[in-house]
Amino acid sequence: MTRKTEKLFPDAYGLDKAIALLNAGELVAIPTETVYGLAAVALNANAAAGIFAAKERPSFDPLIVHVPRAWQSSADLIAANIFSATKMGLKQKTVIDALIRAFWPGPLTIVAPKSEKIPDVVTSGLPTVGARMPDHPVAQVLLQRLGQPLAAPSANRFGRISPTTADHVIDELDGRIAAVLDGGPCDVGVESTIVAVGQDGSLTILRPGGVTIESLRHALTFELHSSMIAINFPATTGESISVQAPGMMASHYAPRKGMFLMQPGTSVRLARRDDAAIQMIKDTVSRQCAGALRIGYLVPTGSPELHQKSVESALGIPVTVKSLSPKGDMVEAARNLFGAMRSLDDDSHISCILAESCPDNMGLAFAINDRLKRAASRSL
Ligand code: AMP
Ligand code: MG
Repeated sequence: MTRKTEKLFPDAYGLDKAIALLNAGELVAIPTETVYGLAAVALNANAAAGIFAAKERPSFDPLIVHVPRAWQSSADLIAANIFSATKMGLKQKTVIDALIRAFWPGPLTIVAPKSEKIPDVVTSGLPTVGARMPDHPVAQVLLQRLGQPLAAPSANRFGRISPTTADHVIDELDGRIAAVLDGGPCDVGVESTIVAVGQDGSLTILRPGGVTIESLRHALTFELHSSMIAINFPATTGESISVQAPGMMASHYAPRKGMFLMQPGTSVRLARRDDAAIQMIKDTVSRQCAGALRIGYLVPTGSPELHQKSVESALGIPVTVKSLSPKGDMVEAARNLFGAMRSLDDDSHISCILAESCPDNMGLAFAINDRLKRAASRSL
């Protein structure tokens, strides 16, 4: 069935319409502070199944459940039939409460044993569910008025670049979903950090995101007066956690064009006429982008004009540069990441994209580098 996706605004008509559609089991894309989500009432198994169909998302990739502001503790989430009343340990609840106090509403998804009321389709059959309280006024008005949780993965076709504006959602899903609520561009720009909380209260980071690892450590120390809580990070040990968190799949967030990941600082080395860097970028372009008339170049920081000059003089072909934050602000860089990738991908003059990762892995740079690595066809 093809029909036009209605663009709604968060006025009285738009909110009423979105709520009526969601209550009727339809899919509505909604703004959140991270990226746009494709929402369905989480307790409606048919509606949740519709999300997988619209996104062409494999059924093994679980959905995050979004909750209203009123549900502010593990007890509230148990009472609301999100988390299990019987399978949660005391330490688990204590740590979850501390995380909620420190980070909700905000870009942190908490994974814990699920209530039986959450349909299996939402969690891809897993015994756990990921829950998050979004910090966006439009998402919150919807959740409060519905009084029900919303399952909402990013509103893009599976594996593609996540949408950070309503127009990105239309580009991805027009005709496949009933409506998109336009709440303006997303503030954070990368998805939530996902943490699983174990029975013993230990944390496992399943996906880096909008809440930094440093702030997680800091908040746990502050909230629980304990620096003894283990924070495991299987992604850095190379351990496979693909079943638990398909968001960690090696290829994800990807442009249609080939995107190749360069060493941090490549363009600065080119500006210095560093022979090895010039040779490397020339080889890359002749191997991966043979015959290209224009190259897209994505850098985390610095002046686009200076980067353009150094890359063009090394390659001898025109280059379009996107600098995620010319002044070097990682919050701004995260906000601009997916939009910049999408605009290089959509520019028909550009045949392939080179991207530099951030020089360090601290703070939000960790999530940005994670997304760049997964979006890239190859790292060089
Ligand atoms: P997205 O599609 O960007 O909203 O990301 C959703 C991601 O959340 C999935 O790909 C999983 O990685 C993660 N997730 C959701 N629920 C769970 C769960 N119960 N256990 C582990 N990871 C989960
Ligand atoms: Mg996604």
